[in-house]
Amino acid sequence: MPSFNRRRILAGFAGCALEGVMGLPAASASEAAYDLVIVGAGGAGLTAACIALGAGARRVAVLESEPVVGGSSAICGGLWAVSGTELQRKLHIQDSDERFYQDILEIGQHRNSEEQVRAYIDNNRRQFNWVRSTLGIEARTVVPGAGVERAHAMNPRALVAGLYRRARSMGADIFCSMRAGTLDQDRRSGRICGCQAVKGGKIYNFKSRAGVVLATGGFGRNRAMLAAFSPRMRFVSSISAQGSRGDGLRMARSVGAGLSDMQYLRGSYAFTLNPSTVDDMTLISYYGAVIVNSDSHRFVDESLPYQKIADSVLMQTGGRSWLVFDEKIRKEALAHPFDRHLWEPLSRGRVPSYVIRGRTLKEAAGAAGLDPVELQKSIDAYNVSLKGGHPPRGKLSNADPALLPVAEPPFFIMPATVCLLGTYCGVTIDGHARVLDRKGHVIPGLWAAGEVTGGLHGTTFIMGTGFSKAQVFGRIAALDAIAGAKS
Ligand SMILES: Cc1cc2nc3c(=O)[nH]c(=O)nc-3n(C[C@H](O)[C@H](O)[C@H](O)COP(=O)(O)OP(=O)(O)OC[C@H]3O[C@@H](n4cnc5c(N)ncnc54)[C@H](O)[C@@H]3O)c2cc1C
Repeated sequence: MPSFNRRRILAGFAGCALEGVMGLPAASASEAAYDLVIVGAGGAGLTAACIALGAGARRVAVLESEPVVGGSSAICGGLWAVSGTELQRKLHIQDSDERFYQDILEIGQHRNSEEQVRAYIDNNRRQFNWVRSTLGIEARTVVPGAGVERAHAMNPRALVAGLYRRARSMGADIFCSMRAGTLDQDRRSGRICGCQAVKGGKIYNFKSRAGVVLATGGFGRNRAMLAAFSPRMRFVSSISAQGSRGDGLRMARSVGAGLSDMQYLRGSYAFTLNPSTVDDMTLISYYGAVIVNSDSHRFVDESLPYQKIADSVLMQTGGRSWLVFDEKIRKEALAHPFDRHLWEPLSRGRVPSYVIRGRTLKEAAGAAGLDPVELQKSIDAYNVSLKGGHPPRGKLSNADPALLPVAEPPFFIMPATVCLLGTYCGVTIDGHARVLDRKGHVIPGLWAAGEVTGGLHGTTFIMGTGFSKAQVFGRIAALDAIAGAKS
């Protein structure tokens, strides 16, 4: 996994912000008319702009509340879950659309909107290949997610920058520091026909022939909204982009939109303490590390999806946990791009502050503040059960080496925490990305795409389905909106 940090990202997008602001047509700014207005310039919004322009829209406005475009899409891990790709075939990975469809439903415990899952599967590879052929961006590798290696590692920053450039070159007006706040609804027909936004204290009216696509991302940065939907999430760290305030959700609610999956709001595991970027996340429990609580006891099946592990961790005393592993497991993790940067310094004799090393397990436990005797007992029991051929975990969802004993010195312990990457629940949409009201009726002229929506994931999201959902439903929303405007 390449190392991204906020400063580099901001530097990368500084030009975009300037261009976007300069693109503001000053004379017509306070009342501008468009074929389509898109709120939010992350993966979903920028994709919608490109696809709408490609489908025949002539004037498209993208409103972005922040000084820079990109949202969480630009700072994410870049994992894009998609089935049946050329890369999978090249690597002899067995997968199919039908298997992916079933996995989403199974992991989501069939609480998903099947219509959304079908639409996502039907359009996913098409959008993925569009990114490859139109933006020239290829996956570097594929990592496991829900049993199958289908999370394709893309460079998210390059991808979003490519979308931005493409949208601009096709003629989109992208307005940065322009925060949308209210939807305009025709009193007689109930149709959404534009929105109001604020920039520098001044109000702008954006009229739209087709309507509005909400692509405002999640609400990971809105503590009050998090507490309202899941009190235990209130104190969990969030590294979502700053614009993840739930504005789109509020706007959609104000015109009667329904909500989906709100009860399944979940964090992600495992992060170093006080995380600030996705680089502070490790998947080492999938490569063999054992997870213990403050009593030094195992309490969870380490092969579960990382959101489910997060739930269990939050139920432990103080919401605390530790990852315990040995040199062999560290080397296994080194072979995987997602984790390499975390464990590579140890190869050079450097012990980073987020991990403790000991010549013996007991030494490491003492330094980590865990009970050395209890930890030794837990690990011994774990190793013995491996030898007996009865893996102490349930279904193994990842690579085979995950069933390694913790036995080869030196030993390592990392205090690990839960963090919110995204909120993965929100406005109810149908398979055409049309926003539905609380009774399931379409709100005419309103579409939503990406993290602002709920329904695709059900109880648990699969790694790589957030980034892809944004772009796939950005495509779907744009095509539906423009087809409707033409007819
Ligand atoms: C650190 C991190 C790592 C992640 N890693 C992965 C991963 O590897 N794979 C995966 O599948 N998912 C991942 N996710 C989740 C995934 O990145 C997001 O769910 C997805 O990219 C969201 O895309 P989006 O377009 O819906 O929202 P965003 O990309 O967040 O874009 C929304 C945009 O709307 C803007 N906006 C908000 N309100 C307004 C308003 N009122 N007016 C105008 N503009 C507004 C925001 O500023 C933002 O630019 C990760 C998330 C984070 C934070």
